[in-house]
Amino acid sequence: MADHGPFQTAKRCRKCDEVKPLAEFTRDRDKPDGRRNECRDCKHAAAKLHRDTNRDVINAKTARWRKAHLDRSRGDAMRNYERTRQAVLDHYGRQCACCGSTTRLHIDHVNGDGGVHREELFGDSGGGGGGAFYRWLVGNGFPAGFQTLCERCNRSKGRGERCVIDHDRVRVAGVRYAPQTSRSKPWVARFGRTHLGLFRTAEEAIAARREAELRDARKAA
Ligand SMILES: [Zn+2]
Ligand SMILES: [Zn+2]
Ligand SMILES: [Zn+2]
Repeated sequence: MADHGPFQTAKRCRKCDEVKPLAEFTRDRDKPDGRRNECRDCKHAAAKLHRDTNRDVINAKTARWRKAHLDRSRGDAMRNYERTRQAVLDHYGRQCACCGSTTRLHIDHVNGDGGVHREELFGDSGGGGGGAFYRWLVGNGFPAGFQTLCERCNRSKGRGERCVIDHDRVRVAGVRYAPQTSRSKPWVARFGRTHLGLFRTAEEAIAARREAELRDARKAA
């Protein structure tokens, strides 16, 4: 039997001692005949034995790998979400179009049909509010009809036409000013300043504050 040489077609397995066709031995460049000394069956059996005897160690290793991988992919998803959100805020403005707040910002459907629109886009009015919606805005070249609203104004507006918080009264009580961006101004012009109590400039806000303080002082006197 031709066990060696260039025309070798079969080989004896060192493990099970059976003669098998060369194809039954996996390739191994380090061996003189380019094949492993154990047949595939024996190799698989050894691997299975190894797995069975080291199950706990292997399971722990797999779990560690999965967790690390998951943390990494979660991190990637979060970074992607943040990037998309920042791009959206770069376009629609980083302050509430209603009260001027610069924190807890949302993108609002000016026409008040955000829920319906999201349902059209994502099939579920509740589920598409985050990343998918922001990705849609970016992917569609920041369409018109959307604006930045803070969480309070957004909630107050709900499915209605506009926020119903009396920001003037809130401001006189708290007096807070947040500068307006040029982007929020068209919206201000459209819905009017008096109803929503928006200040166009810092000077206006400061004057309103002075007035309120004077009024309070007169009342107290
Ligand atoms: Zn074998
Ligand atoms: Zn607001
Ligand atoms: Zn508001």
